[in-house]
Amino acid sequence: MFCTIAHHKMPAHIIYEDSSTIAFLDINPYSYGHTLVIPKIHTLNILTATDETLGHVMHTVKLVSNHYINDCGYDGITVLSACNEVANQSIPHLHIHIVPRKNDDSLSALSDVFSQTHSYDLNEGEQILTMRP
Ligand SMILES: [Zn+2]
Repeated sequence: MFCTIAHHKMPAHIIYEDSSTIAFLDINPYSYGHTLVIPKIHTLNILTATDETLGHVMHTVKLVSNHYINDCGYDGITVLSACNEVANQSIPHLHIHIVPRKNDDSLSALSDVFSQTHSYDLNEGEQILTMRP
């Protein structure tokens, strides 16, 4: 499923893209701007990825996260990646969640962040959050 997004065979609300990664809005968001970063090359998760792929993915996580904090009014981010089914990995393609946080978002415990979905207009989110060169 994420391979199809990586190869532009399925539409997504894309925030950032480079030659080896793509960042797009999660369709079941935990917060406004909840973003997934994936490598374009297929690998199951962090445990199976090469160091090179992990480097590319984390570079994009850092870039997008700093953009959200410096340009979009967020105060911090929560990062999560589930590895294997026992850890609730639902899509078998490496993806790292960026959950943008605000001081007043009332998600006090980490468990709050991953237990509440937050619906919002993803087209609007894409317009606001996209990284422009
Ligand atoms: Zn894949």
